[in-house]
Amino acid sequence: SARAAVATWAGPGRTADGTDVKLLANIADGASAAAAAKEPVDGVGLFRTELCFLNRDREPSVDEQADIYAEALAPYADGRHVVVRTLDAGSDKPISFATHPDEENPALGVRGLRLSFADPGLLHRQLDAITIAAERTGAETWVMAPMVATTAEARDFATAVRGRGLRAGVMVEVPSAALLAEQMLAEVDFLSIGTNDLTQYTMAADRMATDLAHLTDPWQPAVLHLVAMTARAGAEAGKPVGVCGEAAADPLLAAVLVGLGVTSLSMAAAAVRPVGAALGAVTVTQCEEMAAAALAATDPVGARAAARAARDRD
Ligand code: PEP
Ligand code: MG
Repeated sequence: SARAAVATWAGPGRTADGTDVKLLANIADGASAAAAAKEPVDGVGLFRTELCFLNRDREPSVDEQADIYAEALAPYADGRHVVVRTLDAGSDKPISFATHPDEENPALGVRGLRLSFADPGLLHRQLDAITIAAERTGAETWVMAPMVATTAEARDFATAVRGRGLRAGVMVEVPSAALLAEQMLAEVDFLSIGTNDLTQYTMAADRMATDLAHLTDPWQPAVLHLVAMTARAGAEAGKPVGVCGEAAADPLLAAVLVGLGVTSLSMAAAAVRPVGAALGAVTVTQCEEMAAAALAATDPVGARAAARAARDRD
């Protein structure tokens, strides 16, 4: 049964016919890093660093930040990698020392990487701290920026990160980044699709608005088409493209995402075993058929049904 498969699955992430899919954890601090490291994960696909600072009035010093990041990196210094996301402050994640005041539309305002336009020091101090933590722990450390909208932003960010000897990537959370995935990939080492925000901005529907849940659904075919475009660009560039939004934690959608061509899935630690078991039960060809069926649907309900039918057809 499906439940027995979840109970016995112990990694690694692989389809029934042997295609590797990296299964990664989303973490928020040292404690969640240590807990997730005990799961059969290939590393961390999203360390939400801003969650370390929700209750801080002042920006922590570089040394203090380095200690916090090192605590999260240390459990993965056994050869796994950790993707550290630079501060995604603003909108749904207000941080008092890094939030632009008085915005009419904070979700469309100065948030994420945009905070560094006016105050580049904030980003550079964080990158210094991440570099110290990476050197201290020896963990393979990748760094990515949230809320990237233009290729110039990706280029500037990559220059800053690579200058410190780390691998640089950007999140695909704004439709412009998906549409220009090929250009973005020419600037960075990897992409990570944040389906929570990508869905919000594609559907123009606030991710916090419960009465818009039918729109803020990652099964929206428009969102799946943007994921497909991004993954295709990654395959052409020979660079990794992952998904780190909540979509990756849905076992049925995980198979669709693999069929669309994503190379890693990052999720809450509790979702790793159900997703790993679900992928182990389908071939890549089935994933591709599920993806094609979902892309052809006109709404999320139809996309789910079509993916399930494609999976169970033979
Ligand atoms: C996302 O937007 O999908 C994402 C992973 O980032 P967050 O949920 O932290 O905004
Ligand atoms: Mg996001």
